[in-house]
Amino acid sequence: MFARLFKNWPLRQQIILVMGCTILAVGLSAAEFVRFNENLAFERNFRDQTQKLVSMLSATSLDAILSEDRPVLDTTIKQLVDNDPDVEAVSIYNENDEILTQWNKDSPIAPELCLDFSHDVLLEGESFGRIDVTWNVQRQQAEIKSYAIKIYLYASGISLVLAMIVVGLINGLVVTPIRLIHNHLLLLQANKASGELDIVAARELMDLGGSVNELGNILELRKQKEQELEEASRSKSEFLANMSHELRTPMNGVLGMLSLLQGTSLDPEQTEQVKIATTSGKSLLTLINDILDFSKVEAGKLEFETIDFNLEEVVEGCAIALSEQANSKHLELLCHVSGSVRQNVKGDPTRIRQVLTNLMGNAVKFTTEGEVRVSVKELSHNDTESRLLFSISDTGVGIEESALQSVFQSFEQADGSTTRKYGGTGLGLAISRRLIEGMGGKIGVSSTVGQGSEFWFELTLPVSGKTLTEKAQLQTISSRRVMLVENNDSACELMQTLLAELSLATTTVTTGAEALEVIRDAAINNEMPDIILFSAQLSDMPGEVFARCVDADPVFDPIKLVPMAYVTEQVPELYPHKNPRIAAQITKPVKRSELGQILERAVHEKVQETQIEDESKLARRRAYSSINILVVEDNAVNQEVAIGMLEKIGFHADVADNGQEGLDRIANDDFDLVLMDCQMPVLDGYAATQALRKREQTDAKQGQHLPIIALTANAMTGDAEKCISAGMDDYLSKPFEEHALEEKIVFWLSTRISELLDEDTNTLDKAA
Ligand code: ADP
Repeated sequence: MFARLFKNWPLRQQIILVMGCTILAVGLSAAEFVRFNENLAFERNFRDQTQKLVSMLSATSLDAILSEDRPVLDTTIKQLVDNDPDVEAVSIYNENDEILTQWNKDSPIAPELCLDFSHDVLLEGESFGRIDVTWNVQRQQAEIKSYAIKIYLYASGISLVLAMIVVGLINGLVVTPIRLIHNHLLLLQANKASGELDIVAARELMDLGGSVNELGNILELRKQKEQELEEASRSKSEFLANMSHELRTPMNGVLGMLSLLQGTSLDPEQTEQVKIATTSGKSLLTLINDILDFSKVEAGKLEFETIDFNLEEVVEGCAIALSEQANSKHLELLCHVSGSVRQNVKGDPTRIRQVLTNLMGNAVKFTTEGEVRVSVKELSHNDTESRLLFSISDTGVGIEESALQSVFQSFEQADGSTTRKYGGTGLGLAISRRLIEGMGGKIGVSSTVGQGSEFWFELTLPVSGKTLTEKAQLQTISSRRVMLVENNDSACELMQTLLAELSLATTTVTTGAEALEVIRDAAINNEMPDIILFSAQLSDMPGEVFARCVDADPVFDPIKLVPMAYVTEQVPELYPHKNPRIAAQITKPVKRSELGQILERAVHEKVQETQIEDESKLARRRAYSSINILVVEDNAVNQEVAIGMLEKIGFHADVADNGQEGLDRIANDDFDLVLMDCQMPVLDGYAATQALRKREQTDAKQGQHLPIIALTANAMTGDAEKCISAGMDDYLSKPFEEHALEEKIVFWLSTRISELLDEDTNTLDKAA
């Protein structure tokens, strides 16, 4: 109860309070004790004096009392007590208790200041009357009071001195050491303690101080260990960066050369061998990237960007990237981003793409027949953000219930034979989990062995202020009748959803024969479909046979045919520019964002588009050939890869062996762009770029800025920043692919290329 009352008080104040109360109690008790004793003493004194007075009166006035001689008694009393200041009144009574005489002081005092005594007048043991004496105790009481006060002050003074000594001792031996221990603990907590705690205190506190010092030593040891671990982790990261550089450089050579080899005339066997070598090389690269990513995750070096991006494009892009792999296993790959999600969001598209690719890659890898389906739905939203659910489901081998929990742990595979059967390291899901959690989301899986798995992740992404630029409204096809010929149920369902979203009335059939029958009937009623969308792999006949059947009947002439095929299923007979009956072609997985445009093109018979495309490709090639690119690279194989790729794309390319040589070449020749390796002998890419930028500032041709794209084999955080801060404009990680190289160059030379294209058009016009 008391403890509760004073629990927040500092110890020093609590001690002072206790001591203060003690001093008060000791002082008061001492004073009270003295007052009580003194009272007893003076009462005894008055009793004795009364005795004496009565004895004197009895001796001198016994006769007068017996004879009741009042005048004599008056005179005798007066003589005896007149000069005594303490006697207040005297009364004498006869044996019948009748008053014989009474003497009072002139000015009587208050009764509480009086003390009365009564005494019998005895003669040979017999009572002949009584004498009452009233004493004035005022003086004695005042004396006792002043004495008690003195005693009180004295006792309080002594206890105050004692209390100060006790408080001093407690302060020195308890309070101050506790404070010092507390401060030392705070310093330990903040990692700022220097040296050991040195205190003089009560034994228990000295022991406590000793324990705190031991704790400090343990923490110091731990700190040293952590520093060592950090150092080790830094070395590990550096080692990984270097190793990845060392691995990526030859990988660039391997993959680059294979890509160039693919462009040469090979017999079918060699083509197959090059394809296998490319696939293996790419798997090895994925593995290197996985290990690198994982080490970044472990070292806590993951960084996320927040940029505006089109989610639908990212999801569809991932599906398309995996379509070849899926289709080579005859899997149906379906992708659908629900209508409510079609707005730009803010986040890290690269990381989201990485997770999607990993989950979809696994789904394709662990599925032998059936389908892989990717979907994105909106769970909830408000004005500023949208909670999204991404789902990647397959009809593959599934995962045992007991392994479901561990698949997200690093180096875990659901089944010991997985690596043997399917390859992989067991790192992909661990990386995906960290990435999703790093973006503030969560990831999970549900699965049934033999039936398939569904991996999902949830992310809350801010909705971008920018609204998505949906392509022009599809007015022209909205009234058209569409027939869908698709034997795969899921693909059919998805297409129906997408066509319904475009507000197109759709008839669905599953086989070619059924389709022909339906359109024949429809022709009679004049209700033929305007467009037939058909799968290139129908269950009863190949797509090209179906197309030929439609083509054979002139009644069907107005119908536009649009085949749907995976890249690997495409046959020349179904190419729009090779077959006049084919109005357009849809590449699976169907991109919702492009479906409307394709159908519109089909209706308006922009079949020559491919021809236009071919012409524009030729014009581009002519423009590219006027572009001069310098490759600054020390590795001979990589020089060859870069030059080979550039020339294959159509650019003119030159090479320099190191940064210094590069600077000399740039000073003497006109280049449009430089591809700069970073680590080179003599002068590295960073120093060469800095020197070039300095030269550009002092050069006569002020304002000239030569675009430099770094070719970096490192992929650790900070590499990009290092290139940019050295003055480079962009960077490309080795090993790079031809299309990525072309994309970067076209981006940085867009103005120059447009100028060249304009010149080309003018020349052609003049020639015409
Ligand atoms: P890896 O695929 O490289 O082995 P992951 O971390 O991507 O590593 O996957 C870990 C394990 O989880 C896989 O080895 C596999 O056993 C299981 N797994 C992942 N995705 C699927 C899936 N879609 N179907 C069945 N098993 C899967």
